[in-house]
Amino acid sequence: DAAPPAVLEAQDVAVHYGGVKAVDGFGLKLEAGRICGILGPNGSGKSTFLAAVTRLVPLTRGRLMLDGEEYHNTPAASLAHRGVARTFQTVRLLPDLTVLENIQLGADLRAGGGGVKQWFRRTAVPEAVEEAIERTGLGAVRSARPGELSYGMARRVEIARALATRPRVLLLDEPTAGMNQAERREVSQLMQKLRDEGLTQLLVEHDVPMMVDTCDRLVAMKSGELVTEGAPAEVVRDPAVQEAYLGK
Ligand code: ADP
Ligand code: MG
Repeated sequence: DAAPPAVLEAQDVAVHYGGVKAVDGFGLKLEAGRICGILGPNGSGKSTFLAAVTRLVPLTRGRLMLDGEEYHNTPAASLAHRGVARTFQTVRLLPDLTVLENIQLGADLRAGGGGVKQWFRRTAVPEAVEEAIERTGLGAVRSARPGELSYGMARRVEIARALATRPRVLLLDEPTAGMNQAERREVSQLMQKLRDEGLTQLLVEHDVPMMVDTCDRLVAMKSGELVTEGAPAEVVRDPAVQEAYLGK
C-alpha cells in the first residue's frame, strides 16, 4: 500500500546542549491516522526530540514540517492552535485547579489563549472538554484536585487536557509510566480508538509488548540517532535493537 501523507515530519534534527549531543541527526514521519512509536533506552534523546518537535528547545539543525510546510519558527504556544498537542513525561497539572479546570485549560489553548482569565468568566463547559473527560473515563473525579488522584489517574488528566485541544497530532511521552497493567491497556485501547477516528499519534514508551500492540510503526533510537525503523514486530527482533534496548 502507498503510505498515507505525512502530517508531521522531522528531518535530520539535532539538539546539542553544549557538548551533549542529545539528538544528533534523527527524524521521522508521522503518517496520517497512524501511530508511530519511538523505542530507545533512557537518555537516548526521545524526550529531547519531542521537545524539539514541539518547539520547546531550539534545533541545532534540522527541518520540521506540518503538512509539508516548515514550522520551525512557530512558537510552542501556537502549535496547539495548529492542531499539535502533547503530554509530558512528568505530570504537569495545576494543583489548585480541579480536574475539569485543568482539562479546560487545554481547550482554551486551542481557542487561542485567553487562559485562566477567559474561562473564569465562562459558565458552560465546552463540548471538547466533556468529550475528553468521557473518553478518558474521568467523569467521577472531575471535581477532584490533582493531589487527590492516583498517579495513573493524574496521567489520564494529562491525556484529557491534550485531547481537549481537539488535536490532529498527539504526542505522548511515556503516558503510562507509573500505571498498572490494566491502566496501561486502557491507554493503549484509547489510542487505538483515536487512531481509528483518524488521529495521528506519536508514542514514547518502554513497555515493548504495549508498543508492539499499539503502534503501526516503530522507530528505534540510540544516542540521539536512528537505529532502525519499520513494522513493530520486525523492529523489536532487529539485533541492533535487541542489543541497544533490550540488553540482549
Ligand atoms: P530520553 O527521553 O530518551 O530518556 P532525553 O531526551 O531526556 O532522553 O535525554 C537525552 C540526553 O540529553 C541525555 O544524555 C540527557 O542527560 C541530556 N539532556 C536532556 N535534557 C538536557 C538539558 N536540558 N541539558 C543538558 N542535557 C540534557
Ligand atoms: Mg524521556
